[in-house]
Amino acid sequence: MNEHVSILGLGAMGRALASALLAAGREVTVWNRTPGKAGGLGAREASSVEEAIEAGDLTVVCLLDDASVRETLAPVAPKLDGATLVNLTSGSARQARRLAGWLDGHGVRLLAGGIMAVPPTVGTDGAFILYSGARDLFDRVAPVLAPIGRPQWVGADPGFAALYDMAALSGMYGMSAGADHAVTMVHREGGDVEAFKREVLGPWMEQMLPFMVGGADMSESVPEEYNPAMQATGLENMLAASQEAGVPEDLAGHLRASLWRMRRAAA
Ligand code: NDP
Repeated sequence: MNEHVSILGLGAMGRALASALLAAGREVTVWNRTPGKAGGLGAREASSVEEAIEAGDLTVVCLLDDASVRETLAPVAPKLDGATLVNLTSGSARQARRLAGWLDGHGVRLLAGGIMAVPPTVGTDGAFILYSGARDLFDRVAPVLAPIGRPQWVGADPGFAALYDMAALSGMYGMSAGADHAVTMVHREGGDVEAFKREVLGPWMEQMLPFMVGGADMSESVPEEYNPAMQATGLENMLAASQEAGVPEDLAGHLRASLWRMRRAAA
């Protein structure tokens, strides 16, 4: 598997992808908007996007967002006929479909992706990468990129990798929102937050996770033991307790406010 991989983007994720591919013996060329970020990697640094894409049998794009991908590729797009790109930049399904259509018009084959890993877990057993687009393209790319995470094809529609990625993030942020909200309630009422996290919240969420994932689509089938009246009352009880503790009951709004507070504090 000696294909030469080029990577556009050497942020935290691009660097992790490059390291995992290099560790697996792939030849890697990298390009980053701000030059000089390849230090210590052992990859060849290209001085332009065009040079990087020309060097690779396939090019992985891992930039901030869809706008940065467009900005980076637009000046070179007319020269990319025949190239293979794998876009691992996060975005929406619509953005992925539009990007695939636009690149197809320039003779580029695009495999869209979503990374189900964080930089330290890239290349580890738990990491997996969602891909969508033509199956034959996936079959060619998957063995080359397997060192970054287990390749998982989710359909021919180029939007599906992004859709599943964002939906999985919804599950993750939902859990984060719930955990943050729970801890804030305990904190506001003067409880022992560390003991609560260790002895109650962690074990409880672990016990409930299989039920949450298994029964996520409650509209389709309600298990026999599931009592909707009790659950509806249970949710009202939790919201009342939250109000009593002075914590806003909108879980996602609560998480958003706390993340923005952290972002302002870090700026
Ligand atoms: P970073 O913020 O660390 O890096 C962003 C990268 O994008 C840098 O290489 C930056 O270049 C480049 N960039 C930003 N704007 C532009 C632009 N206008 N033109 C060209 N290049 C640009 O982000 P990550 O590496 O962590 O994330 C990259 C992608 O991976 C994102 O889409 C993210 O959602 C996804 N991802 C990240 C995960 C994570 O935990 N980090 C997990 C799963 C997915 P420069 O150095 O010049 O600023």
